[in-house]
Amino acid sequence: MLKITDLEVKSLDKTIIHDLNLTINDGEIHVLMGPNGTGKSTICKVLLSHPDYLVTKGDIIYNNESIKDLDTTSISRKGFFLLNQNPIEIEGITNAEMLRNALAERTNTRVDIFEFNKKLNEICNIINLPKSFVHRDINYNMSGGEKKKNELLQLFILEPKFIILDEIDSGLDVDALKTVGEALKNYYDKYKPSILIVTHHADILKYFSDYQVHVMKEGTIIENGNQNLVQKIETSGFGATTINGTDLNE
Ligand code: ADP
Ligand code: MG
Repeated sequence: MLKITDLEVKSLDKTIIHDLNLTINDGEIHVLMGPNGTGKSTICKVLLSHPDYLVTKGDIIYNNESIKDLDTTSISRKGFFLLNQNPIEIEGITNAEMLRNALAERTNTRVDIFEFNKKLNEICNIINLPKSFVHRDINYNMSGGEKKKNELLQLFILEPKFIILDEIDSGLDVDALKTVGEALKNYYDKYKPSILIVTHHADILKYFSDYQVHVMKEGTIIENGNQNLVQKIETSGFGATTINGTDLNE
């Protein structure tokens, strides 16, 4: 179980997140929505201990242990995976090299090259990614949609228990969205991970039957709900968002 309590996050002297509370039980899917610039990506990155951000108040507890001061490698070893909104390009290191090392690091075992290649091929088939991508430099010269699929390749290899998807659907065409949605659904049905999905669209959510929804505005969660809240946002936008009946835009 992940429990974020009274979280305040700063970058330099700017407060980006404040008074944020969120609990995600094992196997639950939670959706985070909200206007641009409200801190959705920041919270995703803070969970993986991104060095740009400082937690100045509150705590992040995972399975009864605070992870807020752990380094990214240790958090990854606990089974966390972040799919970035804007995946970085790394020229000169191939996917295969990085993934084999990452898997060895994460599992503390030697990775058999034949087993590993077999698995890579299987995953490429599942997510409809050309096998040649395995030997391409990490995200280098890939389109937005290809990068998202390439990140998904990493997810399938590392088999995380806690998945954070920061706008996985942005940049995907209709066919790619279907492939990605179905692949994620299959992963969820097989491994039952916890998932935090940041999105602006309901389309990716139709692959999941049960999830909770949180709306973030100006650095904190201001409304919680279910599928109905997504419908309301799709129809009326975030402008209609209220808290205890008070319109926060006023
Ligand atoms: P969202 O994902 O909801 O669109 P972000 O989390 O990316 O929003 O950003 C929230 C706010 O924090 C924005 O105003 C952004 O400019 C600011 N911000 C994000 N990262 C940094 C940083 N490293 N340094 C300074 N400001 C930042
Ligand atoms: Mg963002």
